[in-house]
Amino acid sequence: MPNVKLVNIKKVFGKDVVAVDGVNLEVQDGEYLTLLGPSGCGKTTTFRVIAGLEKQTEGQVFLDGVEISDVPPEDRGIGMVFQHFEIFPHLDVWDNVAYSLKIRIFPKRQIEEQVLKALKMVNMIDRAGAFPRDLSAPELQRVGIARAIATMSKLLLFDEPLGSLDQRYRDEFRIELRRIIKELGYTAIHVTHDQDEAMMISDRIAVMRQGKILQVGTPTELYTRPNSIFVANFIGESNFFNGMIIKKNETGVKIRMRAGGPVIQTSDNSRNIGESVVFSIRKEFVKLHPLGSNDPYTIEGEIQEISFLGSYLRVYITLKNLDSVEAKITYPPRFPIQVGDRVRIKFHPKNIMVYDYPKNLEYELALE
Ligand code: ADP
Ligand code: MG
Repeated sequence: MPNVKLVNIKKVFGKDVVAVDGVNLEVQDGEYLTLLGPSGCGKTTTFRVIAGLEKQTEGQVFLDGVEISDVPPEDRGIGMVFQHFEIFPHLDVWDNVAYSLKIRIFPKRQIEEQVLKALKMVNMIDRAGAFPRDLSAPELQRVGIARAIATMSKLLLFDEPLGSLDQRYRDEFRIELRRIIKELGYTAIHVTHDQDEAMMISDRIAVMRQGKILQVGTPTELYTRPNSIFVANFIGESNFFNGMIIKKNETGVKIRMRAGGPVIQTSDNSRNIGESVVFSIRKEFVKLHPLGSNDPYTIEGEIQEISFLGSYLRVYITLKNLDSVEAKITYPPRFPIQVGDRVRIKFHPKNIMVYDYPKNLEYELALE
């Protein structure tokens, strides 16, 4: 029943490279949790601290309520898979998977049972006698995962485990990896910079930036209620606008868009008149209506460009205050549109997220 808890973890390399900066996180037994963030944000370092491969500068690591900060990695009972991991080239698949059990001197029958179970889980029984040189990249990845499963650790850590696979294998494998973990009832902590992977595979995601966790939530929570401009921008695709609160009532606030732009109704009533804000709406939540429409919550704009992407269109629209809006519209559109058309675009209040105007908007909107 692995439950992992990180309390105030800080890791400084050398004098002043702060890789992890006060991370608090609890991973429940049986949970599939992903650390997601741009390259260099501290995911691998956090992973290595949990695994015991790196000693934190400050803070504590708990496993099932027991502090393990001083326990060496081999005694933590954690299975690991990396993007580039060592497979012994002179051992066949079976022996590669059995290796860590053999060096720990388990009884022969138990080793056989474990290896068989692990190879079954990853669908590699038929390849048990094959050597690494004869395996494809996805098959090698399966061996790596089988090896981690075979260790009998109920806590598995994955660091970009699908990073070396082609896109088409990756999608398949994500679903499979999640299925394996759920079937075994194990706990998994998975590190990736790929938001699609995180969304697809996780029960919860912890979004990291510059050594800190910004938000922890289910994929749906992060998607529908990002708590910061960075998270709103990093997960999915959003439009961002500047404006000022000009009116407030029980249902929400009205925002006047910058440069005398249109007024937008929101359902966020936590703010006050006169505040400068940034608000966002996801590109797929922007709806188009014909110019004559009197649908509520619509504002006027002009279509600048339309890109056809098969199942959907990207429509680029300019508002009267010259702000641009990008809409992702399912194909075919509900009414004919072309470049130069004036249309009504709908910002439904429930789809609008409002944020304090930050000290440095450019920094908040950067994806690293
Ligand atoms: P991620 O896995 O999210 O890409 P890392 O945890 O690998 O990020 O790195 C976080 C930061 O710590 C980066 O700035 C990286 O350069 C630095 N870093 C990581 N490992 C070391 C190390 N062994 N020595 C010095 N700096 C390191
Ligand atoms: Mg990394």
